[in-house]
Amino acid sequence: MRLIILGPPGAGKGTQASRIADHYGIPAISTGDIFRANIKEETELGLQVKEILASGGYVSDGITNAIVEDRLAKPDCASGFLLDGYPRTLAQVGALDQMLAQQGADLGAVLELTVDDEVVVGRLLKRAETEGRDDDTEDVVRDRMAIYHRETRPLATTYRDRGLLVSVDGDGAIDEVTERVIDALGRV
Ligand code: ADP
Repeated sequence: MRLIILGPPGAGKGTQASRIADHYGIPAISTGDIFRANIKEETELGLQVKEILASGGYVSDGITNAIVEDRLAKPDCASGFLLDGYPRTLAQVGALDQMLAQQGADLGAVLELTVDDEVVVGRLLKRAETEGRDDDTEDVVRDRMAIYHRETRPLATTYRDRGLLVSVDGDGAIDEVTERVIDALGRV
């Protein structure tokens, strides 16, 4: 099973991604987590992307595509994976298409978690208080939402046109959303 999870910042992609990945026995791959781990370890990549993450902007397609290509080549991805936070731009969609074509692999579904802007902004500001992520301040949160709508939301249309999009309401208790997702994916 090769899956993508799409949704605005704060939609709960990370939480649902690990549950879905457990359910299917596949790795959940979060580009945001990979970047944050590199920042924490002060690797060359980490130093390169630190400011970008703090500002809420997107890391360049070149860097991001290379990281994903590397990760997808690992043996644990052979039978499937769940991508969280990638692709985020149309250029990344094209790059992923090429990576999959090279492996002779297809996407199974693209899961979209839909949540109202006001709800996700509220969640992100709350997360800022508890987790202290420096891309969760109010101004940065508003910027991230705008960037999401401009750059990433159009991907839902792209995948809908390919017949791959599965939209699930992401508003509600965590368990409830997981149930909806597993149910919807089971019908694909
Ligand atoms: P969230 O789940 O809150 O949307 P992520 O953890 O997915 O946040 O991503 C955090 C940050 O990492 C993004 O704001 C962006 O700067 C960077 N990033 C993650 N994935 C990508 C990507 N595919 N392309 C460009 N930048 C990315």
